[in-house]
Order: sequence, then C-alpha cells, then structure tokens
Amino acid sequence: MFLKATTETKEHAPSYYAASANWQTDYPQLEGDLTVDVVVVGAGFSGVATAVELCERGYKVALVESNRISWGASGRNGGQIIGGYGSDPSAFRSSIGSEGVSIVENMGSECVEIIKERIEKYNIDCDLKWGYCEVGLKKRHLKSYREWAEEDPAIQLLDQAEVKQYVNSDLYLGGYYRQDWGHIQPLNLCIGEARVAESMGAKIFEQTQITRITYGENPAVHTDKGSIRANHVILCGNAYMGNLVPYLDARVLPATSCIIATEPLSDEQLKQTMVRDVAVCDSRTALDYYRLSADKRLLFGGLSNYSGLEPSNAQAIMQAKMAKVFPSLRSARIDYSWSGRMGISVRRMPQIGRIKDSNVLYISGYSGHGVAPTHMTGRILAEAVDGDTHRFDIMNKMFHLPWPGGKLLRRPAMAVGMMWYKMLDAI
Ligand SMILES: Cc1cc2nc3c(=O)[nH]c(=O)nc-3n(C[C@H](O)[C@H](O)[C@H](O)COP(=O)(O)OP(=O)(O)OC[C@H]3O[C@@H](n4cnc5c(N)ncnc54)[C@H](O)[C@@H]3O)c2cc1C
Repeated sequence: MFLKATTETKEHAPSYYAASANWQTDYPQLEGDLTVDVVVVGAGFSGVATAVELCERGYKVALVESNRISWGASGRNGGQIIGGYGSDPSAFRSSIGSEGVSIVENMGSECVEIIKERIEKYNIDCDLKWGYCEVGLKKRHLKSYREWAEEDPAIQLLDQAEVKQYVNSDLYLGGYYRQDWGHIQPLNLCIGEARVAESMGAKIFEQTQITRITYGENPAVHTDKGSIRANHVILCGNAYMGNLVPYLDARVLPATSCIIATEPLSDEQLKQTMVRDVAVCDSRTALDYYRLSADKRLLFGGLSNYSGLEPSNAQAIMQAKMAKVFPSLRSARIDYSWSGRMGISVRRMPQIGRIKDSNVLYISGYSGHGVAPTHMTGRILAEAVDGDTHRFDIMNKMFHLPWPGGKLLRRPAMAVGMMWYKMLDAI
C-alpha cells in the first residue's frame, strides 16, 4: 500500500457534502485592525459553536477561518451524532474527582441535546435523522453491549436476526439500536450555525490565516494583512493548526480517515443493504462507519490512518471494505471520495485549556468523535469567558500529555500502535 500526503486547496474537499451544500459561504478576508470581545480562530464545529454560544450571551465576536467555514474535519466527517464526551471520563477520577467524572458523563448527553435544540431553534436545514446502530463482529463486542445496556436504558439489544432489520449484512453477530443518536449533513449544519452567529453580530472572515498570536491579558491574533485584539482568544484549529502554537502541536496527532459516497441507491439496493435510515458504526478500533445521505447514497467511511497520510488507492480500498459489508454494492458507482484529518489526543479526551496563564484558550483532540462533543465545547468555552469556569476548570485539570517521540517519531510510533489494535480487531 503506497501512502501519500493529501493535496489540499483553500476550497472545500471534493466531498458529497460540498456538492450538496445549501449555499457557498463567501465571507471577506480580514484587512486592517479590529477590536472585539472574543476572537475565535478556526471555523469548524468547535469554533462556530463557540461563536454561537458567545453571541447568544451578548459578546462581540470575530470568527477567523484559513479556508472556508467547515473546511476541516467538520465539513468532511461521517455526520454521525454520537453522544459521550471523550473516551471513559472515569479514567480521570484521580485528577477531577467523582463529581468531575459525573459532570463530564452528563456532558455526553447534553452535547446531543445542544445540536437538537439548535437545529430546532434556528430552523437549520441539515437532513437531521434520528437512530443509531452499533454492530459487532466478535462475541466480546456483544458482551460489552450487554454490560452497557444494564447501565443505559436507551440501548436496545439486537440479536443477529434483529440487526438485519436495520443493516442487511451477514457480517455481524449482533448489535444495539438507540433512537437518541443519529446523523446530519455536517457541512450544512456548520454553515447554518455560522449564519446564526452572523445574524447575532459575529464578524466572520474566510481565507484568513492567523500566523501569529500575542499573548497576555489582552491578546491579539495577526495575519499578513491585519490583526484582531480581544479580551479572549479561543483557538479551535484542532488537527489543522500546524505549529502555530508548539505546545498544542505536540499534543495533537493528525490522523486521516476516508469516505466514499455511492450513486443514489434504488429501493431494491436499499432492501439489500440499509433497511433503516440509521447511522452505523462497528465496534473495532479501525472501524467502518456508514449511513445514507438524504438522496439515498451510501456514505461509507473508515481506513483511519495514524501516519496522517492516506493510501494512494484510498477509493479502491474503501470500495473493497464496503463490498465486504454489502456484497451487492460491489459494482455500485462511486460518485465522491474524500478524506479528512481528525485530532487524536493521547488520552482520547478533548483537551480544553489555557495557554501560559493568558486569556488564550484552546480546544483540540476529539479523537475521531466530535460532531456532538464540539457543541458541548462551545458551551464550556462560552461559560468560561462569561465568568463561569466550573466546567472549564474540570476539563483543564485533566493533564494534556504531549505525544511521546516528539514531532519526528510520534507518527511512526502511533502507526505501529494502530497496527497492534488492527491485529487485536482481527482476533
Ligand atoms: C473523515 C472523518 C470522519 C469523521 N466522522 C465523524 C462522525 O461521524 N462522528 C463524529 O462525532 N465525529 C467524526 N469525526 C470527527 C469530527 O469531524 C471532528 O472531531 C470535529 O469535526 C472537529 O471539529 P473542529 O472544529 O474542532 O475541527 P475542524 O473541523 O478540523 O476545524 C478546524 C478549522 O480551523 C481552521 N484553522 C486551522 N488553523 C487556522 C489558522 N491558523 N487560522 C485560521 N483558521 C485555522 C481550519 O482551516 C479548519 O477549518 C470525523 C472526522 C473525520 C476526519
């Protein structure tokens, strides 16, 4: 398998989402100097949700994006609304206490509520559908589902035959269904939310890359054509921020994942594949995730690559993976194929904190699961700016560890780690 670096332009990746966007955003570039209450850097879900929450609280906000609104992971992902905030909050009990653990656990359902309420309140057109299935290929997956179902009444266990009433594949031994998670067209949600922030007075700039930050009580961000000074700077560049802040760069591993979109499926093809219009993940570390689009294409994702590179034949590999789950789609036409980068943190928990005791705050590292959690983060950051730092402080207490191996070795080290997990997946 040959790996290559992804070629990026300043316009959206050639995804199904870009092709079905409700409109093309065209905000101006920053020129000159500006002063606001809060400047948010990066306009994916983290940045846009933060801007909305701040505008709702009456702050003057500037939102600055290198490329287009939702150009990064937020406009390219699987669109699956999955609850939970980070992997296993209880692992942090020694640093945040039992109250902290239960607060973070509750954030796992609040994040989904935020999306639901925002779409309803502002009438955002983004193909929202409820319903989610997790499906297992191993007996140990089914054992985990039974344990989770004892704790969580939302989980409805499915045996092998019942899974087929949702996902018509011979691959799975069983699974579970829940009605309270689902899927959306992520780019349309993100640009819709940006329009909401704009309508409340946010100043939005696209094709404007922040190249330098001045820290301190009244920090500022700078581009080659201007600057914005504010009481707070919030950094939401995540896996796409490069070395702007070396402290953050050391704590985020950009990993690549790929998605293909088929041609719209006929009723007969749907019967043989996606019987119900739900979001689906399998339970492996190197998982397949898939769902239908509004026009009944299968959007099939996977191939997480921790080297940050993608195979040169990614589309063919994804097609083969899809055919393994749904043999009847072996020769379905593929209309779109794209990839994106997600930020992985060492402890698989979103990292929220403050740089050097300054008023520069940050978020990064959702570790592949961010559509809903980013919305929670927006609320936590807005609360902190607004003087309520309770939830921010809990998140900030979780030590944000740098990736071992430094810039040179962290990717190969993680790629080896991922190979280990793929081996375990296969057993
Ligand atoms: C292929 C793929 C599939 C996924 N599927 C799912 C899924 O189904 N469900 C789920 O929950 N999660 C999924 N995720 C993860 C989820 O998409 C992310 O966790 C989430 O979108 C992160 O949002 P963000 O706003 O933090 O980062 P991003 O969306 O990456 O946004 C960061 C933005 O910051 C901008 N930026 C960076 N540096 C600068 C700078 N210096 N100046 C100005 N702007 C800057 C970038 O251009 C970018 O637009 C997936 C991720 C990928 C890549």
